[in-house]
Amino acid sequence: MSPTRSRRRLIAGNWKLQFGPTHAAAHAAALRDRLLAVEDVDLAVFPTAMSIPAVVDTVKRSNLRVGVQWACAHAEGAYTGANSPAMAREIGCGWVLCGHSEVRGDFGETDARVHAAIRGGLKHGLLPMLCVGESVEERAAGRLREVLERQLEVAYGSLHADEAATVTIAYEPLWAIGTGVTATPDKAQEAHAVIRKWLLGRFPEFVAAQTRVLYGGSVKASNIAGLLACPDVDGALVGGASLDVDAFCAIVDAARR
Ligand code: PEP
Repeated sequence: MSPTRSRRRLIAGNWKLQFGPTHAAAHAAALRDRLLAVEDVDLAVFPTAMSIPAVVDTVKRSNLRVGVQWACAHAEGAYTGANSPAMAREIGCGWVLCGHSEVRGDFGETDARVHAAIRGGLKHGLLPMLCVGESVEERAAGRLREVLERQLEVAYGSLHADEAATVTIAYEPLWAIGTGVTATPDKAQEAHAVIRKWLLGRFPEFVAAQTRVLYGGSVKASNIAGLLACPDVDGALVGGASLDVDAFCAIVDAARR
């Protein structure tokens, strides 16, 4: 299913646990200056939490938006080590990444907590970016649809249509993240179509038509054009290549229409 391409492209950089405040501010300043003229693609970066204030300060009044890589559902309380969505908003975040596979894998994030984090983000004015994706074994066993649908079903949970329409999805196959192996456009489109079909079956049509589904997994300047040519790919979540100013800007350039 490929509704009309009214969805604005979005290129987001996930800096993971890289760049302390000083380095992050310099990196953000270089991106800000190089991407100043980009009006036709939405841009976001996800620095590590401790660098967010430095990055927000650097990109204020620019076209770069900032997000937090992980937040819990709680605004405040006895949750040692957690990031609060309310505080993320207070320091200038516009986005919250929910359910990144590294958080699921390294820190035991569950589908249920991903749902709670989406709710927490929405409650405190953050746009959720939900990451879903299958392992290499799941793909080989023909379980792509089943895995994606389970992740989506729990993550969206009780959201009503207006809330669901504010969520962006990042399809990130585990076998492509940080491996240098990118999904072929055919494999990416197959998964993106599963996601959009699920949205179409679960919510009124406008949700599937409006929801941006990004591809993530070893995106580079050399493979982004083929991925963006897929009817259901609306942008990219970029890890490794977002740490290099030239590489990230080349990806953004390729996304411009
Ligand atoms: C990611 O961390 O979300 C990601 C897609 O990483 P990479 O581009 O390095 O595969």
